[in-house]
Amino acid sequence: MDIAREAARRRTFAIISHPDAGKSTLTEALALHTEMISEAGVTHGKAGRRATVSDWMEMEKARGISISSTALQMQYGDTVVNVVDTPGHADFSEDTYRVLAAVDVAVMVLDAAKGLEPQTLKLFDVCRRSAIPVITVVNKWDRPALAPLELLDQIQQRLGIVPTPVTWPIGIGGDFQGALDLRSGEIIRYHRTAGGATIAGEEVLDRTAAEEAFGVDLATAEEEVELLAADGMVHDQETFLSGRTSPVLFAAGLLNFGLSQLLQVLVDVAPAAADRREADGGRRPVDSPFSAYVFKVQAGMDRNHRDHVAFARVCSGRFERGDVVEQASTRRPITTKYVQSMFGRDRSTADEAFPGDVIGLVNATGLRIGDTLRAQGERVEFPAIVRFAPEHFAEIRAADVSRSKQFRRGMDQLDAEGVVQVLRNDARGDAAPVLAAVGPMQFEVVQDRLANEFGAQTRLQRLDYSVARQVARADVGLLAGTSGVEVFERSDGTVLALFTDRWRIRSVERAHPDLELAVLAADV
Ligand code: GDP
Repeated sequence: MDIAREAARRRTFAIISHPDAGKSTLTEALALHTEMISEAGVTHGKAGRRATVSDWMEMEKARGISISSTALQMQYGDTVVNVVDTPGHADFSEDTYRVLAAVDVAVMVLDAAKGLEPQTLKLFDVCRRSAIPVITVVNKWDRPALAPLELLDQIQQRLGIVPTPVTWPIGIGGDFQGALDLRSGEIIRYHRTAGGATIAGEEVLDRTAAEEAFGVDLATAEEEVELLAADGMVHDQETFLSGRTSPVLFAAGLLNFGLSQLLQVLVDVAPAAADRREADGGRRPVDSPFSAYVFKVQAGMDRNHRDHVAFARVCSGRFERGDVVEQASTRRPITTKYVQSMFGRDRSTADEAFPGDVIGLVNATGLRIGDTLRAQGERVEFPAIVRFAPEHFAEIRAADVSRSKQFRRGMDQLDAEGVVQVLRNDARGDAAPVLAAVGPMQFEVVQDRLANEFGAQTRLQRLDYSVARQVARADVGLLAGTSGVEVFERSDGTVLALFTDRWRIRSVERAHPDLELAVLAADV
């Protein structure tokens, strides 16, 4: 088995978009154009569509947003395509960071009529910080849209990245007739199929046929393309991989227009699973023995079997179900008899996996987000995944003391999953921990899951703190008795001081010039 070859044919990506831009539709359309290796479903089901998996949570259904991440594996020609779903809500940026740490490239979907939207900007920023190259898809070209050059201008001005179209639409938004494939030089005509339920008809036209079919729209498209070249908006592999340019495609996910071009761009242009950076700065060759890192932990996916699944991205080597692997932090062996390749309600079991693939380890309860897994005897460790600086804080306690055991069990579980950060100190005790969240919606998720999965109703009280700093354990005494400051320990052992506001931090710093209050990783 040639591991390097297996890695080279894998494309692992996440789709990022503002809600409603068409992420789910596009994912389903991708599935239609490929051979599903594992039919696990991907997106939140909406009326009239295939019911899918990530709507396992009641709240998610009620709100129509996707909270949990899922992954899907498909085969396109000789290429294995792994799509890792990103959480849909703006509050879940921490989750998003972790998912993006598991992929090699992002596909940014824009609604052609709306262009860049707030959530797109935020997610793009995460990609930039994580140094992930981005492919842009302008979706819904079958609807009235902004002018294509205006969209490119937005991308360039607001994201500071040079858009380099690899396809160009023939026909304005709302009149999507075909496309110029700028890489192959082909002129493509699209045909609608009933309801978009099957692969769109697509034919390559010769010049004469194209002129006849498209008339003046072809000439317009070609003129616009000439402007692109003059502006330097031409695909370049090196600047794409370094995040300075982004290939752009035009599509209509609902009609399946532009999907085969997107897949071909993923095959030809998107980076394959490659050597991965290690914590010590070295790189882990893809063909070295097995290693992976955990980017997501989830419980309660299946109400009948209260289970716990740790999802890991394979970074090197070949993984085979039944292998005994090692948790790097504890050197504890983990048996992998129960491993899922994909996840959701329909479990399918992975027999083997290669770099770029996602595996789900069932009931490996000791695993934490950011953990490295490796073949026994290996030394590799991957960098820890960024923890966000929390900005919202609340005390939580069981509404009914007789359920405090369930409450504690639930808190430990949600803490391990990284749903929220759990802070404790002696004064408040174990019955009333403090939750620290990046966005307030995380609190709702916690309360909802405690009630539904652990049978513990809770009472939540928002606290007045708005900023956290890390302090050395030895310095904690200096903060004693200062008003507007409270010190906690997070479950990973980090000591955090919470402040009502930044002014309070400044006054503490003035009073104790030697005290070091460290900014948390992402609070920059
Ligand atoms: P998500 O929230 O990003 O996952 O967006 P969805 O895939 O659920 O799409 C949001 C809405 O836009 C749905 O009503 C889709 O049917 C519609 N939609 C998605 N793609 C297209 C498209 O290419 N053309 C048109 N006209 N509508 C689309």
